[in-house]
Amino acid sequence: MPRSVPIYKPLLPDAKAIAPYLEQIDRNRIYANRGPLAQSLEARLAALLTGRPETVAVAASGTAALEASILAAAGRAEAARPLALLPGYTFSATAHAAMGAGYHPHFLDISPEDWQLRAADVLRNPALPRAGVVIPVAPFGARPLLEEWTAFHAQSGIPVVIDAAASFEAAASAPAAGDIPVALSFHATKSFSTGEGGAVLWRRREGLMRVVQALNFGMILTRESRSAGFNGKLSEYHAAIGLAGLDRLAAARNARADTLARYRRSAAAHGIAQHLILHPEIAPCYALFRAPSPAMARAALRALQEAGCETRFWYGFGVHAEPYFRSLVPAGLPHTEALAARIIGIPIADDLDEESIARVTAALGAAR
Ligand SMILES: *Cc1c(COP(=O)(O)O)cnc(C)c1O
Repeated sequence: MPRSVPIYKPLLPDAKAIAPYLEQIDRNRIYANRGPLAQSLEARLAALLTGRPETVAVAASGTAALEASILAAAGRAEAARPLALLPGYTFSATAHAAMGAGYHPHFLDISPEDWQLRAADVLRNPALPRAGVVIPVAPFGARPLLEEWTAFHAQSGIPVVIDAAASFEAAASAPAAGDIPVALSFHATKSFSTGEGGAVLWRRREGLMRVVQALNFGMILTRESRSAGFNGKLSEYHAAIGLAGLDRLAAARNARADTLARYRRSAAAHGIAQHLILHPEIAPCYALFRAPSPAMARAALRALQEAGCETRFWYGFGVHAEPYFRSLVPAGLPHTEALAARIIGIPIADDLDEESIARVTAALGAAR
């Protein structure tokens, strides 16, 4: 059996590309605490993702960005509003961030059409009066539904924070800062990465300053803790990786476009093109096979395993089904569970080679 095809093979900037930024750190002798490289990364990300200065705050991870956004937009949970409403179809980080801010995660079912929570459904949900925050998720890097959730926030008065962890490219293609915070992840398995890292996009400057404060023990400008917080700051070393990553963004996108074109051609040749979901519909760090039935999903998993291709249920069978969260959802979430069993993550990389693509698509084409 030849080597197996990995589910995702990240490619971050190499040592040579990062070196000029490391030399800046050597000269600056500032290593942490939103230093000059972190601020430069924020400015370049703002130009790219929001088109406005002072709309981005970087963080140590996507989860830190999310938790700080919750603290900045909603504060810690209070007895009258203890719930965070969030979809079952997400990565467990969404629920952990809510719990970090003191909320009890209350999982809701998604819309089967776009795999997301819809504001109109949440407005009718009986748990709404006890909700302290709503955390919609843009799954697999979909575009965050800013207008819909801004209107929901205006109508209900309930703070909203969007988990758009994988939506870097969606944000780059349509400005993604609005009146509610949007959290991104720069983890190595996301399409733009600082190794570990994340960011909050938010057009409200005083809100963004509260995010920065929450990421720094509740301190800003002075050494006094004035609000809830923790250490969620991005180090200068991680910022260096991000700056080098922005320098090579165009090259990464070119390589990716070529790979995706080859993937599509190969899928068409094996008669499975209609079941494949690729960038730009989702983030380029994912490729998904949407099985038409549960039986077909099982057949596809078997065929891929036999061909030595890794697969992943990126969101498990819904976070609400994870051992730690299971007891919180007695009734189950039918749309989430039906979808999760049919959406199979398959191998992708910006530079996925011809042989690997052929192996994946041939296995899926032959799956019965
Ligand atoms: C990756 C991801 C996160 C967590 O980001 P980290 O940077 O790993 O903390 C949160 N939510 C979703 C939907 C993700 O995909």
